[in-house]
Amino acid sequence: MDAPIGRPNDLSAFWMPYTANRAFKEAPRMVVAAKDMHYTAGDGRPILDGTAGLWCVNAGHARPRVVEAIRRQAEALDFAPTFQFGHPSAFTLASRLADMFPIGLDHAFFTNSGSEAVDTALKIALAYHRARGEGQRTRLIGRERGYHGSGFGGTAVGGIVKNRMHYGAAVQPVDHICHTHLPENAFSRGCPANGAELAEDLARRIALHDASNVAAVIIEPVAGSTGVLLPPEGYLARVREICDQAGILLIFDEVITGFGRLGTPSAADYFGVTPDLMTLAKGLTNAAVPMGAVMTTGAVHDTVVNGAPAGIELFHGYTYSGHPLACAAALATLDTYTEEDLFLRASRLAPFWEERIHALRGRPNVIDIRNLGLVGAIELSPRPGAPGARAYEAMVRAFDEGIMIRVTGDIIALSPPLIITEAQVDELFGTLERVLDALP
Ligand code: PLP
Repeated sequence: MDAPIGRPNDLSAFWMPYTANRAFKEAPRMVVAAKDMHYTAGDGRPILDGTAGLWCVNAGHARPRVVEAIRRQAEALDFAPTFQFGHPSAFTLASRLADMFPIGLDHAFFTNSGSEAVDTALKIALAYHRARGEGQRTRLIGRERGYHGSGFGGTAVGGIVKNRMHYGAAVQPVDHICHTHLPENAFSRGCPANGAELAEDLARRIALHDASNVAAVIIEPVAGSTGVLLPPEGYLARVREICDQAGILLIFDEVITGFGRLGTPSAADYFGVTPDLMTLAKGLTNAAVPMGAVMTTGAVHDTVVNGAPAGIELFHGYTYSGHPLACAAALATLDTYTEEDLFLRASRLAPFWEERIHALRGRPNVIDIRNLGLVGAIELSPRPGAPGARAYEAMVRAFDEGIMIRVTGDIIALSPPLIITEAQVDELFGTLERVLDALP
């Protein structure tokens, strides 16, 4: 007989991703339903979603337009190949995205995840230089403490030691510039004042390898997964200048920052810095169907496409690139963002969010607090000899107290759906206060 929903008979077969499998299976944190700002836990309790799932359910859970669009699409056209054939909504979605993002990012290549978007962007960067007759530009540059997904390319340019150390050299010849997280910026509100000069590390790396060998640099404008690391004022604009001088493509990984997280369509809009390529996923479909995308400038697209002989121009793609269900979910999601003005809503709520998160200063073990838009991080001092244990315990206790938070090392990261109300922001931080006060 089937076990009731929420209580599977056996937890052993599912090898869970980025999870302490043994600990989880001893004391599972199961959710069985979700609507708007809340999950329902396996025992029926409402859980306030402080992280929009994994930074992805930007419009809140199970939004009617999105649910209905997926249902209708599944009936009308469940699948169509996008290799040498097409279906209308993939083209409509690409045009909608081109209209939405900074002037010049006007072509979309569809993938199924952020990881695939990153690998796709890196491959397009290599193909671009080759099409220009500079095929020796193969070096890719990432940044310490960057997260670019779990593909081989993204792992290689990523800067999280544990994600890299088990897999040898991964793929490309890569290098990494230094991260921008400085102790003197602790408790900054918004982007920190110190550290724009860290962009010069990129110029040094480029000089070391010689610009003629470097294809692209990829960075998260705001690093999310390593604990909300914010760019110092002026840093991103200087990175853009250095790339232009060296003829290197700038890739912004906006898998987290895209779709309203900072109160704007993208971080590129927020900072007024336009990359050559931009990776997207998560909020693109409100996470209801997996989908990613790479946006490129006309220059990048035309160089690869128009420079190729007749026939297929880019030998790359996925069976599910532009999947009809994902396109339907994405179009309905974009409509929801527009109709409810959710990006503007996020930017209006951001000052209140900032006040509330910084009110946690002075709570036990809190050594830094960071925020921008509707993103925030609370960094705890690690327990001696047990890094990460304190924040992990905070996550477990928070779930018991009715809120979902995310932790990385000893950093608590928060990124609620953009529909969160002031009362729910209060509830989130009020609960977190109690959890922190009680935490050994
Ligand atoms: N890039 C960034 C900046 C991310 O935060 C993530 C996921 O968190 C990814 C890429 C990978 O996306 P996915 O998990 O959809 O493959």
